[in-house]
Amino acid sequence: MRGVSSQEAVRHPSKSVRIRKEMAVSPQALRAQSVAGQSFVDSVNPATGEVVARIPATPLTAIPAIFEAARAAQKTWAAQPLSARCTMLRSLRDAIFERRDDIAKIVTRETGKPRAEAILAEVLLALDTANFLARQAPRWLRPERVPHHNIALKAKSGWLEFEPHGVVAIISPWNFPFAIPMTELIPALVAGNAVLLKPSELTPATGALVGELIDRAGFPKGLVQILQGGGELGAAIIEAGPAKVFFTGSVTTGRRIAEACASKLIPSVLELGGKDAMIVLADADLDVASSAAVWGGFTNCGQACLSVERIYVEQPVAEKFVQLCVEKTKKLRTGSPKDTESDIGPMIRERQLEKVEQQLRDAEQRGARILTGGNRRPDLGANFIEPAVVTNVDHSMQLMREETFGPVLAIRSVASADEAVALANDSPFGLSASIWTSDARCGRALASRIRAGSVMINDVASYYGISEAPHGGPGWSGWGRTHSRLGLLEMVQVKYVDVDRLPRFAKPWWYGYSEDFAAAAGSMVEALFAPSWKRRLQAMVGRRGARGLIARRRRI
Ligand code: NAD
Repeated sequence: MRGVSSQEAVRHPSKSVRIRKEMAVSPQALRAQSVAGQSFVDSVNPATGEVVARIPATPLTAIPAIFEAARAAQKTWAAQPLSARCTMLRSLRDAIFERRDDIAKIVTRETGKPRAEAILAEVLLALDTANFLARQAPRWLRPERVPHHNIALKAKSGWLEFEPHGVVAIISPWNFPFAIPMTELIPALVAGNAVLLKPSELTPATGALVGELIDRAGFPKGLVQILQGGGELGAAIIEAGPAKVFFTGSVTTGRRIAEACASKLIPSVLELGGKDAMIVLADADLDVASSAAVWGGFTNCGQACLSVERIYVEQPVAEKFVQLCVEKTKKLRTGSPKDTESDIGPMIRERQLEKVEQQLRDAEQRGARILTGGNRRPDLGANFIEPAVVTNVDHSMQLMREETFGPVLAIRSVASADEAVALANDSPFGLSASIWTSDARCGRALASRIRAGSVMINDVASYYGISEAPHGGPGWSGWGRTHSRLGLLEMVQVKYVDVDRLPRFAKPWWYGYSEDFAAAAGSMVEALFAPSWKRRLQAMVGRRGARGLIARRRRI
């Protein structure tokens, strides 16, 4: 990555972006600027609005050569023993560990998230995924015996074999710019694929760093290529025909990608938005639950697919719970992510703030009460907003129906757990949810009634850091799974291989049909599935019995 020395910054004509003086080549272009034929994707610090690095953009014309290099590298890579691929994962893990401070620094500078969050939710997750899959992949990707239950097919033995797709595309968002691509790239590689990674155009420096780590770990040239650019580049990658697409991002883009993939019959995994519900029952530990709500709603400035966005709390404890949430929210420190004491940094861009403000306005107009927060903090820098707690909300409000993706906790009091479940399920999203209760059995019973890819009882969001836990949900939250064994299996084609143990025998079901043969076939169905044992035994014997299946076939 090309860094930029600290220089006086000048305000760009756009209100929230400043470009350092020595780089301000064109006042019109914000992201991809052309300097001597080379376009760039700018890395902007959301806390200051300054362009802090300029990463060369990938020209669309380079895509055919990129695919060609990836296909060549993939063939050699897939031919390596799995143990060698696992060794490379360990090298990647070590490279990540070595550069952990740089990773946290660049992610913090480019996303505005506090350093602690960059370490825990980005670096740690990537390290654990590499470690976990280096250990587990040999077990999960080795051929798996398939025992046959049907007595008529016992003379055959079968296996599942797990083969790479080929060149897969990973298109990722800006909110977890290191952890999300890494937790997809690592399983893709260990399964034997080549990867074309297109990071978000808002986090190109983190994307470039992924490329450096891949080089440092020693992966073959061309196996992982980082393609820098915006949506048009993502669309062009799909147009060029990767073997599978792993997309994480918004519902709107997800729809476009699903359509593009469908028209070319390219399989896809879509990890889209969320509107996660938190259900707080009257017997919950309110102190812990309110701390969870505040962290779950505001971590990463609320810009997480697993953010707590809707809270349904049983009426007898609602007032106390709301009071605790407000008190704790007021104690949070919003400020520069450079300051390690800050709990909450800026949002990524101005348009994200506008969306939050629009949802708050709509909610207020429909009768909601903002108990704290919701105001911009220009005194802190660009894109800062105070975390908000809102009550008196209902499902007519955008705040309860659309993904907010900002630091807002919307709390509604409910008469019962049944009402809470009904409201939690009243959403097109279904990524995850949480239930708070001191009765674990009751929690599990409610969890089974919630439409979501995951439900946590007495915790929020942290399952995302459990490498064994699958991630993904139904409806507008997308399809397919990442993380865990299920995520690894998304990276492979499953092939069934069958070996016949009686290779010298022609199969009884081959040609040479006759009336007796058809009758014997019917008897065999009876012998296997008739409701009584007596009928099954009868079907075995006799001139046209199942046993005659072999004898009755004319030899061809
Ligand atoms: P986005 O949809 O705007 O962009 C995501 C990526 O898609 C970017 O790399 C972008 O350049 C690319 N893209 C845009 N148009 C494209 C096209 N036509 N073809 C191919 N690629 C295209 O999303 P975002 O703003 O970066 O991320 C925020 C969204 O991501 C939120 O909705 C959030 O909930 C979701 N998200 C989901 C998960 C999850 O695991 N379910 C995780 C993180 C974020």
